[in-house]
Amino acid sequence: LTILGLESSCDDTAAAVLRQSGDDAPEILASIVYGQTELHAPFGGVVPEIAARAHAEKLDLSVQEALSAANLSLSEIDAIAVTSGPGLIGGVLSAVMCAKGLSAGLNIPLVGVNHLAGHALTPRLTDQVTFPYLMLLVSGGHCQFLIAHGPEKFTRLGGTIDDAPGEAFDKTARLLGLPQPGGPSVQKEAEAGDPKAHRFPRPLLDRPGCDMSFSGLKTALLRARDAIISEKGGLTIKDRADLCASFQAAVVDVLAEKTRRALEVYMAENPSEPLLAVAGGVAANSAIRARLETVCAESGAAFTAPPLALCTDNAAMIAYAGLERFKSGARDDMGLSARPRWPLDQTAPALLGSGK
Ligand code: ATP
Ligand code: FE
Repeated sequence: LTILGLESSCDDTAAAVLRQSGDDAPEILASIVYGQTELHAPFGGVVPEIAARAHAEKLDLSVQEALSAANLSLSEIDAIAVTSGPGLIGGVLSAVMCAKGLSAGLNIPLVGVNHLAGHALTPRLTDQVTFPYLMLLVSGGHCQFLIAHGPEKFTRLGGTIDDAPGEAFDKTARLLGLPQPGGPSVQKEAEAGDPKAHRFPRPLLDRPGCDMSFSGLKTALLRARDAIISEKGGLTIKDRADLCASFQAAVVDVLAEKTRRALEVYMAENPSEPLLAVAGGVAANSAIRARLETVCAESGAAFTAPPLALCTDNAAMIAYAGLERFKSGARDDMGLSARPRWPLDQTAPALLGSGK
């Protein structure tokens, strides 16, 4: 089975081709990603209209490049998987329309995919991970602990009550004049900094449960930055590194402690061969990965994290989530709608279009 995946829910236009023979491990034949970082850079954040237009411009090209990298023609594709939410609606619509056109024109099945399911199932694409497993999905817009019971069945144990860590990394970068996306630039600066230089808050650690909060961090960072500036008139390279290292340490501490608790809850119900898998863009952070690995070892759980390129947005994960849905018999038709919101742990009613 050869499946084409399309993704355009935020600021990456992506197409990928995935092939599975029988029950063998699926193989990524091609994965093309066109980022839009430069387009949005002047505005300090993703501008939905600019994103939608850029997706519409790059989708055909991404599909062509994915096919040529896979050395296949369109007629050799058996099914199309597309992100149908959640995300910026103009962007989501771009790939949904493209996928519908291809499905109708080639007369092949269409499967809509939840972008978050794409992230949450990625460990199964890259590693031999079986259900159930505990998932920490930590990305630009989300942060939650989920028990993955099946390709479309997730239970939420807790998550952020305000900002996502990815957002916090991006805001930190903006406050310090570092390039976007903030995650990689803050991580890089942090390597040369002292994580104890500033004591930033670790909210909700005194409360039971797996909920987290990251919005206070940026206020604390802003204050610390302004205090340095008003004292010395500006930030040195070392000041910036210390701020980044202290910020990252706070995020790492919160994620580590809440992961320990989530594992406790999860393992009480699922004691046999427990596994924590992380996914989402922030899971690309090496300090976070290393610390979570330690927490798992201490808790007696295995740990897995997808390769960096499959942590951030890509279409291989969408093709894979589509493949899982396809194999379970799911099909969508021209009524497939684009959903701006679509929580993973429930079937939310479609907010746009005629969807089912
Ligand atoms: P969502 O998946 O929640 O809809 P998204 O698709 O925008 O949001 P992803 O592509 O999964 O998010 O992740 C992007 C985020 O990951 C950005 O906020 C980026 O700063 C962050 N990120 C990427 N690399 C790193 C890193 N090394 N350290 C920390 N954060 C990182
Ligand atoms: Fe994402």
